[in-house]
Amino acid sequence: MLTDADLLRYSRQLLLPDFGIAGQEALARSTVLIVGLGGLGSPAALYLTAAGVGHLRLADGDIVEVSNLQRQVIHDEAGLGLNKAVSAARRLAALNSATSLHAIEQSLQGAVLQDAVVGADLVLDASDRFATRYALNRACLQARVPLLSAAAIRFEGQLALFDTPGGGACYRCLYPLGGAGDESLACAENGVLGPVVGVLGSLQALEAVKFLAGLKSLHDEVLMMDLRSLSQYRLRLQRRPDCADCGPGSAAQNAGQGAQGVPLANFSPQAGSES
Ligand SMILES: [Zn+2]
Repeated sequence: MLTDADLLRYSRQLLLPDFGIAGQEALARSTVLIVGLGGLGSPAALYLTAAGVGHLRLADGDIVEVSNLQRQVIHDEAGLGLNKAVSAARRLAALNSATSLHAIEQSLQGAVLQDAVVGADLVLDASDRFATRYALNRACLQARVPLLSAAAIRFEGQLALFDTPGGGACYRCLYPLGGAGDESLACAENGVLGPVVGVLGSLQALEAVKFLAGLKSLHDEVLMMDLRSLSQYRLRLQRRPDCADCGPGSAAQNAGQGAQGVPLANFSPQAGSES
């Protein structure tokens, strides 16, 4: 039930015919886990909080360093040395007191990861490590939670919603071979402009709001962007019947969540992400 203060605060988005009161109430009821409060997670968390998402879980094991401030706009100089989830929660609490915030001050793995995913309506992968991305994928499959993943490096970015509870492909269907190492190193070696990760993190927030409010969003597609030329295209995303995470024999399949899929033709993984 929206209060008069809510009607004023969210009036600009309430005016949207496809969003309205129902969309706002859906956001207020929603729980979102954001994994990574770096360049992607910064705008994503700010926009979701500003929009009135009811419950945010913020997970990051890193501390704020001075080289982060060029693009991780949720943090500031006063936050240097703080855990990023704590620094982000501090900023978000000042932005919207109606959003409940839970900072998880560690890299998610094992039981902590599963606990963080269970009960969420949506998980935002804004991480910078391949291992985290695959672990998140498996946890989301197990808990039947959709995964919205973004990545950016240099002038390139990509965004995909892995709505596996809705029958969609998973992250490993897209990248079956697995990645190794730390994408933040790739970021440090290859460079990235702040607005590039800002665009991708903002798109992640946009798709999250649309998904939570029941609007049409990315489905079984990967959005690829080249922000140097400002060009973009979409790739069709299909389930792999031999996927190690969602195919036959996988833990998710054994839990009764598998489905038939079609092999993905010749899509070569493109590594890289924001850090
Ligand atoms: Zn899969």
